[in-house]
Amino acid sequence: MKINAVLPCAGRGERAGLGYNKTLALLGEKPVALASAECFASLPEVTRIVVVVGAGEEEEFKKAFSPLGDRVVFVIGGDTRTASVYAGICACEEDADIIAIHDGARPFLSEALLRRTIDVGASHGSAIPVIPVTDSLREVHGEFSHAVDRSCFFAVQTPQVFDAYKLRTAYISAMKDGFTFSDDAQVFERYMGNVTLCPGDSSNVKLTHPSDFSPHGFSVGCGFDTHRLVEGRKLILGGVDIPHTKGLLGHSDADVLVHAIMDALLSAVHARDIGVLFPDTDARYAGISSMKLLQEVKGVLDKKGAQILNISAVIMAQKPKLKDYIPLMCANIARTLNIPEESVSISATTTEGIGLVGREEGISCHAVAGVRKE
Ligand code: MG
Repeated sequence: MKINAVLPCAGRGERAGLGYNKTLALLGEKPVALASAECFASLPEVTRIVVVVGAGEEEEFKKAFSPLGDRVVFVIGGDTRTASVYAGICACEEDADIIAIHDGARPFLSEALLRRTIDVGASHGSAIPVIPVTDSLREVHGEFSHAVDRSCFFAVQTPQVFDAYKLRTAYISAMKDGFTFSDDAQVFERYMGNVTLCPGDSSNVKLTHPSDFSPHGFSVGCGFDTHRLVEGRKLILGGVDIPHTKGLLGHSDADVLVHAIMDALLSAVHARDIGVLFPDTDARYAGISSMKLLQEVKGVLDKKGAQILNISAVIMAQKPKLKDYIPLMCANIARTLNIPEESVSISATTTEGIGLVGREEGISCHAVAGVRKE
């Protein structure tokens, strides 16, 4: 069996609001269109992948698809999706048995779904993957609307797989009639009769809206700090004054927990660290409460449009026992950052007497922060 794939990538994708072809946007380090095609390239039966591109975009697409070699050919699309797919079908091999059409902005296609659609398409002449609609539905006519029973509605995905001869025939008729359709199932159905449905995959999403393309949607930062334990200093952790025979030495109040958390937050938004922001050569920061510095770090994140999702920290201290103070530390940090207390998790551990922490020479802290950028 010889399979050809057609990837329409010529659409302007205006809903994505990127100002350029959304299928060229990077998903990690890979263009979306390349990620959408890779699953096809992994099957030896797929002997040609036709990428339908906009006029003037050929060079960019050729560069993007260079990892897939010479199985990939490029054609210029038309004014409508139907015209673009027709151009793609015309560039398929004449002796292809099956043509699979897949959105250029559906990069999470699994091999299981691709195999399923090919099997069903080969035995039934067509295979259209669908998934149940999970949101409630309403039918809206101007200011009037009513609920719709969603149980008989399904969302249509790609790849849509067809007998090559039947698909070609249907498309030739559609072009002759001047009709346009929003997907290939509709073209096939109009001229060849019923299509065969098969189960789709909820992770096989089409990237459509700006938030789908946000390259820095989520990010994580980590921070670490150690301060020396000395006599004659207060022990401040998470803004809590903890009774102990020793305290932490530092330019500020030496709150090692808050220092690690601040570095994690700054790291998550690529904004260096507290050593750069609050240098210990600056007299303004002498003896300052680290909670005040935390407030300033929050300001840095606000300016970058970053929302704090969670903070997780572990304090390493041989003594004193900290468990009774942890809820208060969480509350202080959450209040200062204006986030829910459940978003701050702090644990404490000894190091079983080993190392500088075990010898009670100092206290260390690791912290991780998750943020979302708008
Ligand atoms: Mg420090």
